[in-house]
Amino acid sequence: MLKQWLKNWISERHRVALRLWFYRSTSWWYIGNKRTCNLCIRRFSKFLPYGIEELRTEACCPHCRSLERSRLLAFYLRREVFPVLKSGRVLHFAPESSISRLFREESSLNYLSVDINPELAMQFADIHQLPFADNQFELILNSHVLSVVPDDRKALSEMYRVLKPGGLLLLQEFVHDHQATRELPSNASLEQRQQFFSRDDLFRDYGQDFMSRVEEAGFRAIRLNYAASLSPETREKYRPDDGHGIFICRK
Ligand SMILES: [Zn+2]
Repeated sequence: MLKQWLKNWISERHRVALRLWFYRSTSWWYIGNKRTCNLCIRRFSKFLPYGIEELRTEACCPHCRSLERSRLLAFYLRREVFPVLKSGRVLHFAPESSISRLFREESSLNYLSVDINPELAMQFADIHQLPFADNQFELILNSHVLSVVPDDRKALSEMYRVLKPGGLLLLQEFVHDHQATRELPSNASLEQRQQFFSRDDLFRDYGQDFMSRVEEAGFRAIRLNYAASLSPETREKYRPDDGHGIFICRK
């Protein structure tokens, strides 16, 4: 009842801000020295559990709500990207607010975030038909978007089109052990998706053929277990590893 009332009367942008304000106001419960978030730069006694299908213990920062994948991406950007990429345009899909802030505060890159919901980013954009000319961006970030869009092949080919030759796409997705991606057609209804995946936002559940799908679009791609390059102490303190790594894709 309260949830529906909030949905009717408060915009999504304000609901997100309200949720974040609530989390931040309760995060002092977890102040401590065992964990550190490399995005909000705060220390905690523990991270919070998180997971839609499987609950992961100590996944989520109590203050900024960053997950393992965003903390891993922050390590990669600070150590591998920002030192070498000093100018050019960046395109970020479905932006995590903590990663947007990282670009604003720590890089000199020309940053643009986009989303199908214009309330959640700087600009509206449909990933199936991007409103940009060819060869515009040095860097594209896309975390957990491809599994929820109707046509991931079209999305990959659009990202390839707008990326400059030599440009970098950083992809993050859960890729499971089964060989072939399990998916529904792009016109599947919410009910069909709920029935097939037990949740209504997914169109597909990636298997080991994920990489070949990325390469079909033209990218040269590797799956990087970047957490393995961090020391055991760093991994324990920052918890940046959900086991899925980062797909480093070059045009
Ligand atoms: Zn945080």
